[in-house]
Amino acid sequence: MASGTETKGVEIVEGVAVVALDSPPVNALSAALRRSIAEGVKAAEANPAVKAIVLIGAGKVFSGGADITEFGKPPVAPSLQDVLDVVEAATKPTVAAIAGFAFGGGLELALTCTHRVASSEAKLGLPEVKLGILPGAGGTQRLPRVIGPEAALGMIVSGDPISAKAALQIGLVEQIAEGELKSAAVAFAKQLAAEGGPRVRTRDREDKIAAARADMALFDRYKAANARRFRGFIAPGKCLEAVKGSVELPFDDGVALERKLFMELVQSEQSAAQRYAFFAERQAAKVSDVPEGAPTIPIRKVGVIGAGTMGGGISMNFLNAGIPVVMVEAKAEALERGKATIRKNYDNTAKKGRLKPEDVETRMGLLDATMDFDKLADCDLVIEAVFELMEIKKEVFARLDKIAKPGAILASNTSYLDVNEIASATSRPESVIGLHFFSPANVMRLLEVVRGAKTDKSVVATAMALGKKIGKVAVLVGVCHGFVGNRMLAARQLEAGKLILEGAMPWDVDRVMTDFGMPMGPFAMGDLAGLDIGWTKENSTSSNVRELLCEMGRFGQKSGAGFYDYDAERRATPSPVVEKVIRDFAAKQGVPQRDVSDQEILERLTYPLINEGAKILEEKIAQRASDIDVVWINGYGWPVYRGGPMFYADSVGAKTIVERLQAYAAGGDADDFKPSALLERLAREGGRFQDQ
Ligand code: NAD
Repeated sequence: MASGTETKGVEIVEGVAVVALDSPPVNALSAALRRSIAEGVKAAEANPAVKAIVLIGAGKVFSGGADITEFGKPPVAPSLQDVLDVVEAATKPTVAAIAGFAFGGGLELALTCTHRVASSEAKLGLPEVKLGILPGAGGTQRLPRVIGPEAALGMIVSGDPISAKAALQIGLVEQIAEGELKSAAVAFAKQLAAEGGPRVRTRDREDKIAAARADMALFDRYKAANARRFRGFIAPGKCLEAVKGSVELPFDDGVALERKLFMELVQSEQSAAQRYAFFAERQAAKVSDVPEGAPTIPIRKVGVIGAGTMGGGISMNFLNAGIPVVMVEAKAEALERGKATIRKNYDNTAKKGRLKPEDVETRMGLLDATMDFDKLADCDLVIEAVFELMEIKKEVFARLDKIAKPGAILASNTSYLDVNEIASATSRPESVIGLHFFSPANVMRLLEVVRGAKTDKSVVATAMALGKKIGKVAVLVGVCHGFVGNRMLAARQLEAGKLILEGAMPWDVDRVMTDFGMPMGPFAMGDLAGLDIGWTKENSTSSNVRELLCEMGRFGQKSGAGFYDYDAERRATPSPVVEKVIRDFAAKQGVPQRDVSDQEILERLTYPLINEGAKILEEKIAQRASDIDVVWINGYGWPVYRGGPMFYADSVGAKTIVERLQAYAAGGDADDFKPSALLERLAREGGRFQDQ
């Protein structure tokens, strides 16, 4: 038979059946594709002219895994498991030919083949844990049999993909294709058929797991060495349990264990929150009145004004993306320091082996650090990151207005200030926008894109697209004091400050927040950032605890003391001195100290913050509740397994939140706890933020 036309999607090449996965764009394993794979493999099995079988993606990728549009719908036969059984039951050698990527169910499919070949750029991964679940189609049982339990844990518990090169090193693929993938896979399959020999199914492989049986402690060691990945999350522990099962149990029992754990996870609140967060992030990229694919302004060169903490970090984002940066400063030593910090950051990354030395030079070569403002003239985008003072910002924008070319985007990295007022200092407010990066700007994923009253749609579209290009999660917000994130944070800070006067100590407040899943509490965060931001000795009025601490020289971690005492390794311990300062100050203010429960701390740090989020929605400062959640997960470390503050509010229920706010309002400070109209309506109707 020359070329098979009997079965759709199957081509016979030199006695090898090539079964194509053809469901663009990512060959998601939809019901139709599952059926066609099963039929293709069965036809190849039945055809005596076929000596071996290759599975290959029809386009540029193998498969992105499950079809997410089927989530939550009744199952359609054949299930992925049925298809995998068909592939694994084949008596002829089977080769998965992997281009682009094989993720999730896509990799599980490839694991049922006897062999795998990849193209050099391919990535392979099981990302399920990131959605709070585990690979549920045999991945936790087959992967350890192919690459050993330790390497399998690395992939399954982290969810991070690995490169084709790494896959070759650990035996996940047998070959990296030189030249065209299909020909290489066919040649390999032919060779396997010619060699004959016993065909070992993945499920029957013992070679990589036998040794682990004598060293079951490896699982505890892995957990101890990767404690951070497990903290607060349920899924990584279940992944570990399933992989352990692959070593301890016969294959079918291991699959049954995997299924049981999968079902537990898929029904868990954590997984619901993580899946919600996944879709929320995709949704955030959409701007309701700017169509996808709207025209954008090409950004070939970027200017950054200010080489301080933020200016340097912001510049690195563009250098990393290969975009030249002109970084200007008012002070020569600040410029030198800023440039040196960028180099030091790159050198450190290179030392850790995560960047090639020549790449450090390429990136530094793209940076023009200068005192000459006129060099901003040919930049397509200029981002201002000078001191947070309206007067200075307006001065800088007026100057920039005279220098920047027509059509250039003029952006401010302001944390709080009115972008419309900044824009009014220019003759072109339509070109002005806020680009609020978070510190450290080269690391934090969040970018608040602040749309001014007159900002042009093309400027908005460009900012959102550029955010994606530099690896950020861009969220569109409107103008108000502090935008979405910092405005809500202020509501939390207010309560934190009040709570310590009422009797909770800073370490009690912080502990409740870290137990909730935040990376640190408000007081530890203050110590890290520096308590003296915006503080001067001359203007200090001893009117709050922070000022009192600054007056004592307790500026936070950098001075060895803040709300906490710090040792040489910057490890924090509660400070008796601070406790006394707080108690004395409370007495002076006439605030009685009492026992404050952990529950009260949690409610007062989260409910007013959620209430502020509701006001933000009412005022249309955010497009949707899920955008607020994206801000908090990516900019403030809200635990993704709690889905963000608005998702959390839905899980607690608006009614409960309103009742608690009203109860606190009755205790005093009524304004701080007054429920917003939206929250009250949801409480009345039993509604959810997600559905607004
Ligand atoms: P910084 O003090 O570290 O740096 C500001 C730099 O701007 C200094 O080097 C200063 O010399 C320079 N500068 C001042 N006036 C200038 C002018 N007219 N022309 C050129 N350079 C000038 O401050 P930062 O922490 O980088 O903050 C910068 C901006 O970013 C502020 O608006 C701040 O609110 C915002 N921001 C800061 C953070 C943060 O965590 N630090 C986070 C987000 C946003």
